[in-house]
Amino acid sequence: MKVGIVGAGMVGSTAGYAIALSGAASTIVLVDLNAEMARAQAEDIAHAVPFSSARQVLSGGYVDLAGADVVIIAAGVGQRPGESRIELLSRNAQVFGNVIGSIQRHAPDALLLVASNPVDVMTEITTRLSGLPPARVIGTGTILDTARFRSLLGQHLGVSPLSVHAYVLGEHGDSEVLVWSSASAGAVPLASFAAQVNAPLTKNLRNRIDDDVRRAAYRIIAGKGSTYYGIGAGIARIIAAIRGDEQTVLSVSSVTREVEGVTDVALSLPRVVGIGGIGVTLLPDLDDDEHIALRRSAELLKTAQDSVVLPQKGS
Ligand code: ADP
Repeated sequence: MKVGIVGAGMVGSTAGYAIALSGAASTIVLVDLNAEMARAQAEDIAHAVPFSSARQVLSGGYVDLAGADVVIIAAGVGQRPGESRIELLSRNAQVFGNVIGSIQRHAPDALLLVASNPVDVMTEITTRLSGLPPARVIGTGTILDTARFRSLLGQHLGVSPLSVHAYVLGEHGDSEVLVWSSASAGAVPLASFAAQVNAPLTKNLRNRIDDDVRRAAYRIIAGKGSTYYGIGAGIARIIAAIRGDEQTVLSVSSVTREVEGVTDVALSLPRVVGIGGIGVTLLPDLDDDEHIALRRSAELLKTAQDSVVLPQKGS
């Protein structure tokens, strides 16, 4: 599989590194406005490849994306300390006007995987600009938040996060919704599992996990300027699901026809991901508070995406 990455900054290059090590792509092409940087990143990643697999890691221009099966979009301007993802919006929308047209000119059949923040709105903008069906434009969404939620629950319960089934829905950001009510571990409802292992889910614990998941990016940005290892691995996971046509359920973002009464909004829900992109979208059972929180998140995102004046699609 050939994977293109537009934007070879911290997120794009880390994703390239993770994909190269996982062996999920036979060819990876890095493209950046800063061609010299893309070349250096590709060479650096290529030096890691012989330790794991025999894959090609190259840099180039948009023309070198020809034949790509998936193009990851990690271009844009980074989140500043204290800046919300929504505040990033207008700056990144302009960048996408140029990027999407250029990708489609050379790789019209590629699935698009959007990683730039605010990722939900950027996914909606990408869908509008590209004219592709929503199933073929995937945002990384809450894949990382869901992984963090599972990992903290697993730690508390003393069980592998792989045995925990729990999702973070809605916005990848402040309004995201941790779904506690239908979460389970090893096919046992979470509350029952917690009781059986004598690790009760107290209000304090729930608040601590909620805050830990919701504020993780802010903490990391405050400490080191940006986040990239986690999302790089998340992107590699999505690429593996596409390449293997896994039909695996991942919490990723996509334009959704209707959720909680809000129409045509991009947000994260559990979705079946395979070689054609997104298949079925699922809605877990929610309690009343979770329904309300998901509607709020969807409304907030809808307002944000509707505020974007679509840039001209460049080429
Ligand atoms: P992040 O931490 O989100 O990866 P970076 O600033 O490290 O942020 O990376 C963003 C990358 O996107 C930069 O390398 C920048 O040069 C690139 N970029 C910005 N605009 C464009 C564009 N129009 N086309 C291609 N790459 C772009």
